[in-house]
Amino acid sequence: MSTIETIKCLIIGSGPAGYTAAIYAARANMNPVLYQGSQPGGQLTTTNEVENFPGYPEGVTGPEMMMQLQEQAKRFGTDVRDGWATKVDFTQKIKKVWINDTIEIHAETVIISTGATAKYLGLDSEQHYLKMGGGVSACAVCDGFFYRNQEVVIVGAGDSACEEAHYLSKLCKKVTMLVRSDKFRSSRIMEDRVRNTPNIEILMNTETEEVIGDGQLVTAVRVKERTTGVTQEIPATGFFVAIGHKPNTEIFARELEMDEVGYLITQGKTSKTNIAGVFACGDVQDKDYRQAVTAAGSGCIAALDAERYLASLD
Ligand SMILES: Cc1cc2nc3c(=O)[nH]c(=O)nc-3n(C[C@H](O)[C@H](O)[C@H](O)COP(=O)(O)OP(=O)(O)OC[C@H]3O[C@@H](n4cnc5c(N)ncnc54)[C@H](O)[C@@H]3O)c2cc1C
Repeated sequence: MSTIETIKCLIIGSGPAGYTAAIYAARANMNPVLYQGSQPGGQLTTTNEVENFPGYPEGVTGPEMMMQLQEQAKRFGTDVRDGWATKVDFTQKIKKVWINDTIEIHAETVIISTGATAKYLGLDSEQHYLKMGGGVSACAVCDGFFYRNQEVVIVGAGDSACEEAHYLSKLCKKVTMLVRSDKFRSSRIMEDRVRNTPNIEILMNTETEEVIGDGQLVTAVRVKERTTGVTQEIPATGFFVAIGHKPNTEIFARELEMDEVGYLITQGKTSKTNIAGVFACGDVQDKDYRQAVTAAGSGCIAALDAERYLASLD
């Protein structure tokens, strides 16, 4: 039998969106309870260098920044807990969320900040250099700056891949773009943009065989042309993967409106979902920007929306 607990505000997820929502909700006397999930601190805990979050002139490591956000949320009384939301029922005015299938939270408002997970190719060599922080990235805007005037490879064929390749082309000496099939999946305008950029070389029908390096840092990428089987090594210090993200929304599938990929749909500039009292912020509802600062900004919006919703009930 599950333990039942009744609260005003439940926050699911402990990335920049969740903690910012917690800071605002706690300061508005909403006594938020925040569940961290399996990745306490969220995606930023997997990166050593965050140089673009305002307020850190020297930069900061992801784990350190997230510890500070947690401290700030706790300072105002946020109850930060270990636990994973496993099931929800948003059909009644009081929202029910099950944690680890054992605790049943009854909340007047729920703020969802469960983020999105970048997809990778899954090659051992790719995962090795990703874990080392040695040159594999799924975010050109976050990491492109570290590869200024260097040669990089990017994998992907959709709009985001084109946008990221174009972004990198302004920083890097050369960008090689690997497209697995004989077609782009992007819009024509984005394809044209990369095709017309002189320092982007596009290799169609080409897949990655191995990310090569000295054990610490990436030095090249071995690729294979799929129709001929011919392989080549492309010198590169950075390997960018832009094959999409998976929003962490499975448990909401029956209750909340999502787009075809699974991103939660919010209304206009607000964090409101299709269910009154349930709000979404951060990467889980943002396929366009996916930055810590935008996630934090939308966390603020979610807490304000939740606070106004509670006030409207009084
Ligand atoms: C390697 C890397 C480097 C990056 N570098 C930068 C950078 O330099 N600058 C920048 O601005 N952005 C950077 N980003 C992007 C940034 O990390 C994200 O935009 C940001 O973390 C999104 O915040 P979020 O709060 O929406 O979600 P996330 O950070 O993804 O956090 C999601 C949270 O939800 C929790 N969760 C998920 N499902 C459940 C569940 N069912 N129950 C309970 N909890 C759950 C997870 O445990 C996690 O705590 C980087 C991303 C990566 C992967």
